[in-house]
Amino acid sequence: MDDSQKWLDLADRYGVRNYDPLPVVIAKAEGVWMEDAGGNRYLDMLSAYSALNHGHRHPKIVQALKEQADRVTLTSRAFHNDRLARLGEKLAAYTGKSKILPMNTGAEAVETAIKAARRWAYRRKGVPADAAEIVACEGNFHGRTVTVTSFSSAEEYRSGFGPFTPGFKLVPYGDLPALERAIGPNTAAFLVEPIQGEAGIIVPPPGYLAAARELCARNHVLFVADEIQTGFGRTGRRFACDREGVVPDVYVLGKALGGGVLPVSAVAADEEVLGLFEPGSHGSTFGGNPLACAVALAALEATEEERLAERSDELGAYLMERLRSIRSPYVREIRGRGLFVGIELDRAARPFCERLMKRGLLCKETHERTIRLAPPLIIRKSELDWAAERIETELDAP
Ligand code: PLP
Repeated sequence: MDDSQKWLDLADRYGVRNYDPLPVVIAKAEGVWMEDAGGNRYLDMLSAYSALNHGHRHPKIVQALKEQADRVTLTSRAFHNDRLARLGEKLAAYTGKSKILPMNTGAEAVETAIKAARRWAYRRKGVPADAAEIVACEGNFHGRTVTVTSFSSAEEYRSGFGPFTPGFKLVPYGDLPALERAIGPNTAAFLVEPIQGEAGIIVPPPGYLAAARELCARNHVLFVADEIQTGFGRTGRRFACDREGVVPDVYVLGKALGGGVLPVSAVAADEEVLGLFEPGSHGSTFGGNPLACAVALAALEATEEERLAERSDELGAYLMERLRSIRSPYVREIRGRGLFVGIELDRAARPFCERLMKRGLLCKETHERTIRLAPPLIIRKSELDWAAERIETELDAP
């Protein structure tokens, strides 16, 4: 029996309309496939905005979850737990940073990085009290809290939510001279997505990240990379910054760190920055809980064992080539890195996503005209072919 309409009606009645989901009710999932309440199967080409790099219910991650659930799930940070210590060691090795601060959601990790950068500016750089500035990019997406939307350039994220947090400056993404002009004596950090995800998979000009990183180093400004969506293999490298050999001062991490199971985020940086938090200055009841840490440990191990970054690199190049061979009157540009691909159309992308849904492929529009494709990194070539065939049919001239 297909209960979908019942759940859609109930969601409409009690749910808040802060999202505009496709009208599909997922009831089950495994690997790259999802099933709706009526038993129809769909290929997941979104991966919960890159949180499902490992696919749905990855066996190793689910096993870690179950085993840890039978041991201890929550301690708060009033006590130590053995899993957080191990995750710290593992994530430090993965990022090359010496300190890890665990949180839950991406937005919280961004907030944490902002606090760390401000602290650093006051205590290390000598910026006068309450004068620290952080430079971010137009078109950014770093989360939905009031402070984080304070430096959003999207009116829909801000309208009716002021007053906002001061201390941020915006520069056009990919514009190095603008960044140079924006940096002043009170600049604490440059906060940047190495590829802008929500803005429509916007890849900056070649050399931009490396030059921006260098500019920050010269001006004693922290380079803070928000790799929440791009990290852990999504773009065909460990981190998107790796493509330009960039090592940020601060990594902001989330999404796939939770293995598609739990919200797990973190900030990774060296003692110089994260050593400035003393007891009482920051925290979260659930941040670093043993259940989340066990899951994140398994997720990191699976990322490495299954060479997800390498898979993403190879399969992403294949998918992009396949998509670029499509002759479509609607396509403006196909861009991306690894299995992080945007198809920009000359018209609204939503109707295409709805039609693809009817063909058994789930993806989502971003910023009106771009279809975002970000399948689990465990996807097979034959499954990408399956997806490409359906996309081709929909993008073909009518
Ligand atoms: N930063 C980036 C680059 C993101 O893509 C997102 C979510 O899409 C966030 C931050 C916010 O993460 P969360 O939704 O877990 O708060």
